[in-house]
Amino acid sequence: LRDEKSTDAGEPIRTRDIWFTERDDKIALSMKHNGKLYDQQSDYQRVEVYETQAYGNMLTLDGMVMTTEKDEYVYHEMITHVPILTHPNPKRVLIIGGGDGGTAREVLKHTELEEVVMVEIDEKVIEACKLHLPSIASALDDPRLNLIVDDGIKYVNEASDGSFDVVIVDSTDPVGPAEGLFSVDFYKEVYRILSTDGIMITQSESPRFNNKVFKEIYQVYRSIFGMDKVHCYLAYIPTYPTGMWSFSYSTKGSAHPLNGFDPAKSQAFSESNALSYYNGQIHAAAFALPNFVKQMIDQ
Ligand code: SAM
Repeated sequence: LRDEKSTDAGEPIRTRDIWFTERDDKIALSMKHNGKLYDQQSDYQRVEVYETQAYGNMLTLDGMVMTTEKDEYVYHEMITHVPILTHPNPKRVLIIGGGDGGTAREVLKHTELEEVVMVEIDEKVIEACKLHLPSIASALDDPRLNLIVDDGIKYVNEASDGSFDVVIVDSTDPVGPAEGLFSVDFYKEVYRILSTDGIMITQSESPRFNNKVFKEIYQVYRSIFGMDKVHCYLAYIPTYPTGMWSFSYSTKGSAHPLNGFDPAKSQAFSESNALSYYNGQIHAAAFALPNFVKQMIDQ
């Protein structure tokens, strides 16, 4: 333990000099923390929560950062409000994964919705987040949420044609239980269960870091939804590799992320819900892509 600073009253603030590091074979991201609050091996992955000094409590799965208390709002607001505010008449939303609850929390801010279903495979993720990330997991006990602990692939395979207006795939990276969530067959099934104007949203990795997966994702989506039906948008997430993160927006019918977007409505939604990242200007700006990203998508 080291006393690095003191409070106004002169009492030492005690911090510990220990680091969490997420390692890839070429880069790493480190955060200083005060210790581990949760550590369980589930049937699917190792679930851990650290008390970091810069980002608050942080969920990791198999050693990879999933979300932190201090920057989670970027990912969760962007994966949710962009599709729901551009669907002509959203009523039924399905979340696949998202066990921390952040996406469900944001979805439930849309009070016009009639049905919100979330299918998370790992109950240990839910348990860890309820215990140690309550500001993110708050929606998991909301009676308006139909929370199902099961494999999202199975759920989608068994769902009826046209049964959801928005499907949000809030998954881990394409390894372990989420591997099947990155398969052509899975996306074909998502397409089938989308309603006429349905929208599928996925996190589509970092174009700067996960180049191969990023390119493949857009090729696959375009082969299923059509060339002009798949759009990419970006957000800045400091605790993900490179900080540059992408989301895909694929539509079955007439929905469009910019033509169907009303800046005043988005701005009003942002203000009335006191959002921290999403607003009318961010919505439009997020679809402006650097040339190297456009080229990767168009290759
Ligand atoms: N929301 C986080 C973020 O900010 O990046 C990351 C998402 S993390 C919570 C993704 C979740 O998908 C994990 O809890 C994982 O257990 C879940 N998952 C992985 N494969 C799944 C599957 N086949 N069906 C349902 N959930 C799955």
